[in-house]
Amino acid sequence: MAYEDRARLAALWDAEVELFRAMRPESERAWRDALEHMPDGVPMLWMAKWPGPWPVFVERAAGAHFRCVDGLDHVDLCLGDTGAMVGHAPAASVAAISAQLARGATHMLPTRDAALAAGLLAERFGLPSWQFTLSATDANRHVLRYARQATGRHKVLVIDRCYHGTVDEAYAELDASGRVVSRRGNIGAPVPLDETTVVVPFNDVPALDAALASREVAAVLIEPAMTNIGIVLPDAGWHDAVRAACDRTGTLLVIDETHTLCAGPGGMTARDGLRPDVVVVGKTIGGGIPAGAWGMRPELVERVRASLDWDGEGLEDIDVGGVGGTLAGNAVSMAGIRATLSEVLTPEVYPGMIARAQEWTAGVQAAIDEFHAPWQVTRLGARAEYSFRATPPRDGAEAAAADDFALQQYLHLHALNRGILMTPFHNMALMSPATSSQDVEQHTVAFREAVASLYA
Ligand code: PMP
Repeated sequence: MAYEDRARLAALWDAEVELFRAMRPESERAWRDALEHMPDGVPMLWMAKWPGPWPVFVERAAGAHFRCVDGLDHVDLCLGDTGAMVGHAPAASVAAISAQLARGATHMLPTRDAALAAGLLAERFGLPSWQFTLSATDANRHVLRYARQATGRHKVLVIDRCYHGTVDEAYAELDASGRVVSRRGNIGAPVPLDETTVVVPFNDVPALDAALASREVAAVLIEPAMTNIGIVLPDAGWHDAVRAACDRTGTLLVIDETHTLCAGPGGMTARDGLRPDVVVVGKTIGGGIPAGAWGMRPELVERVRASLDWDGEGLEDIDVGGVGGTLAGNAVSMAGIRATLSEVLTPEVYPGMIARAQEWTAGVQAAIDEFHAPWQVTRLGARAEYSFRATPPRDGAEAAAADDFALQQYLHLHALNRGILMTPFHNMALMSPATSSQDVEQHTVAFREAVASLYA
């Protein structure tokens, strides 16, 4: 249900903007300097979407906290939108990355760490064959090429309101009449999206079955739970139905675990016994260094190899197949993954991260209950998110309908002014191994105050 007292919301927003201005003169100075050579004063355009009149400029970060250039300490519940889920600057990752940097960052040749990193991922996700990129986006892009090559089919199926990075095919969604269209704000789409993409709602088995029946789809690309339009959890039976539909139609099943790695050391794939043909990971696996990866069943590798004759004359063209990047698999990324998976994001740290997320969820729920806010909160492992509707959404369209940008901006700015960073663009909090109960309590207190300001 929409928040109705817009005048009250506007007044609350204005007061928080005043507070922000007063607290952050150095960030303002840094931003004004930055405006000279960067649009909006930010190195990537989406950084302009943070709440407040200018972005907060960071001085340093460690564990679950960062300090801004105004010297203010923040509890970081955004954690680089999962890029820093392992905490900022974890000692073992920093040591391995620094050591490798000093020995040479990139040489177009493998290091021993590459095989160790691949082995760690294989053990966690149960898929034996891995390739590396600099981002999850790149891994998804490359996987779609592999899938097209292996199946000889051209289309890709994604879930309505999904996000898989800046992957052209995945910028499709359903309009009100069920047609596949480009999502709003998509910059310079290469072709109309219905040429490349089939879209179905999450948890909609009949729609999925119907979409795959024509056998035009090379791969289904899904998150095991939606995490980019709020959290939408799978219904019982959804994943079995997806696997069965893919088997029936010869479609490859790609599970993107980039965010759902918050559910356990092998993501939801290992936690829930899912059976993908391909798993994609990225963001936090390098401990902060750019790194992405995808893992495959050997049959997929073989089909691509055979189709391109890489064991014969095709070897000559192995470098120009549209998959890769000069710095992909570089020595620093490999050292980062090896150290982060073996020493930082170990199975042992998950129970603590999940317990913090349970505490955070309980704090949010308590404020919702106390002030009868018509909101809900959903948790997935070490990640949780509230949304402005009374019940958990079952698909992306339901989740999107609960959006209230002004209300969200207010809550984020209110939190920021009390030293808490939420993930931008949605109401999500993520727990690192370094996040403490005290950090969570700081959010619980501030959130209660914010909900009271709206509903008391
Ligand atoms: N997959 C998922 C599920 C994501 O949420 C994201 C980013 N939010 C990506 C892929 C892309 O990650 P990156 O931007 O690091 O390439």
